[in-house]
Amino acid sequence: VYILGIESSCDETAASIVKNGRESLSNIIYSQIEIHQPYGGVVPEVASRNHIKKIDIIVDKALEESGLTLNDMDAVAVTYGPGLIGSLLVGLSFAKALSYSVDIPLLGINHIEGHICANYINNYHVMPPFITLVASGGHTNIVVVKDYGVYEVLGQTRDDAAGEAFDKISRSLDLGYPGGPAIDKAASKGDSSFINFPRSYLEEDCFDFSFSGLKSAVLNYLNTCKMKEIPIETNNIAASFQAAVIDVLASKVIKAALDTQISTICLSGGVARNSLLRSTLGTMTSDLGLKLHFPEPDLCSDNAAMIASAGYFKFIKEEYSHFDLNAIANLKVKEPVDNI
Ligand code: ATP
Ligand code: MG
Ligand code: FE
Repeated sequence: VYILGIESSCDETAASIVKNGRESLSNIIYSQIEIHQPYGGVVPEVASRNHIKKIDIIVDKALEESGLTLNDMDAVAVTYGPGLIGSLLVGLSFAKALSYSVDIPLLGINHIEGHICANYINNYHVMPPFITLVASGGHTNIVVVKDYGVYEVLGQTRDDAAGEAFDKISRSLDLGYPGGPAIDKAASKGDSSFINFPRSYLEEDCFDFSFSGLKSAVLNYLNTCKMKEIPIETNNIAASFQAAVIDVLASKVIKAALDTQISTICLSGGVARNSLLRSTLGTMTSDLGLKLHFPEPDLCSDNAAMIASAGYFKFIKEEYSHFDLNAIANLKVKEPVDNI
């Protein structure tokens, strides 16, 4: 089964061909980062205009690189939310047109479900049940993947997402956009015990997150430095901030695995690229006899292979979408159900 995946929820225009949900035959990602960099963040109107300019070229390239044609495709999978409404509509409209023109099913995909499915790509060992931490620019969730397409959300952020915290702190440290990679790099040259920033674990037995207190603590520290004319030790502050975020993410995802007695942990979303998160969880899982998996870096951040993979698991259940499918900017992962 060949699925053409299309992703345009934010500032990446992406297309990919995936065979049987796991084998990526092509994975083309056009990032608009340089276009948005002068603004310090994504400008929605600019993003959708650039998707329109690129989408047909990117889809053609994905087909060409896979050695297949549109007529070889069994279905087209596309992100319909969450994301920027104008950006989503470009991908969704394009996918509808392709689906109609060659008469193959349309599969509307939740972007966050896509991030989770990135763990299946180029990997034949990861299968449910597993616990996943979804940490991205807009989301921080701990999810139990009970079966293909069956999710239970154990916890989520009550304020900022982890990636958003990286981006905001990076801006105030003048490290630029996007913040995650910049902080990761600066932190590798710094001392994480420089300042003991607060770790917010919230109530006992709670899998929710909160990063706004940490963000305020870093900003207050920076203001105090400026007032007292203390030099700002960027690398040390970045390292101390990163350690505070990763300590909380790692300990909660480990607790989720132990509480549910599920022995595999997978990482999803852009923050899964973080080197400290990967190494910390690598050590913790091996000490506890748990298994850890994370996608390769390009599959952690936005891409269309993950959308095609999620599409495959819908396709085999014949969960097709109708042409009246609309883009939903604030589409939810799935509301929490009963705790295990
Ligand atoms: P969402 O998926 O929630 O809709 P998004 O698509 O914008 O949001 P992703 O593309 O999954 O998010 O991830 C981007 C985020 O990942 C950014 O906030 C970025 O700073 C962060 N990120 C990328 N690399 C790293 C890293 N090495 N360390 C920490 N964060 C990182
Ligand atoms: Mg992006
Ligand atoms: Fe994303």
